[in-house]
Amino acid sequence: MGVEHQVPPDPPDVIAAATVGRVGGDGSLAAPSDPGDEPPLAAGPFGAWLADMQAALRGERDADVPCAGCTACCTSSQFVHIGPDETDTLAHVPVELLFPAPRMPAGDVLLGYDTRGHCPLLVDGRCSIYEHRPRTCRTYDCRVFAAAGVEPEGETKEAVARRVRRWRFSYPTDADREAHEAVKVAAARLRSRPDVRPEGATAPTATQLAVLAVKRSGVGRKVEGH
Ligand code: SF4
Repeated sequence: MGVEHQVPPDPPDVIAAATVGRVGGDGSLAAPSDPGDEPPLAAGPFGAWLADMQAALRGERDADVPCAGCTACCTSSQFVHIGPDETDTLAHVPVELLFPAPRMPAGDVLLGYDTRGHCPLLVDGRCSIYEHRPRTCRTYDCRVFAAAGVEPEGETKEAVARRVRRWRFSYPTDADREAHEAVKVAAARLRSRPDVRPEGATAPTATQLAVLAVKRSGVGRKVEGH
């Protein structure tokens, strides 16, 4: 708090899984790069993760991410969408940190970031409103990028990209491996679909691609029960 905050451009780069497709910029699609010296991180069995992630995107649960102290997504110059129905969250966010969300209905707002690119509600490395954090934060899981084979774009997302490169899913059954392939194929197909691009953009954002691929891959529930 007490720092200068960034005003969103139009359209902004927004973390908004629930509103994917409504805002955007250029996306990128690539195989995850070599993580270099950073050790791999266990992302869990793919099928179980996919079922949980799809449930989170349907608003049925929060994402359960093994962040282990990582705050990359809270420190990467990202605007966080908050919907008008999120009254508990809105009651805990100082109004001066909020901006009307461009190209969204009245009442949809964005939580900005400070001059370092940090969410102003991140205090001493922890979310100061964790129990009341926005829906976007509750459903954000950077493993969606690893699942879809999509790299977060932009130099401000490098910390997130480094994390993404480290995730390694496991495949207890053939169905887990097939589901992962289906999500990556869905991402590749969606990239060329004009109907998933934001208005005026030449491509969907990386976040849009990854989230839509997880939502629309046609797999998930059938893997969940094995
Ligand atoms: S509200 Fe909390 S969880 Fe969301 S970006 Fe800010 S610090 Fe991170």
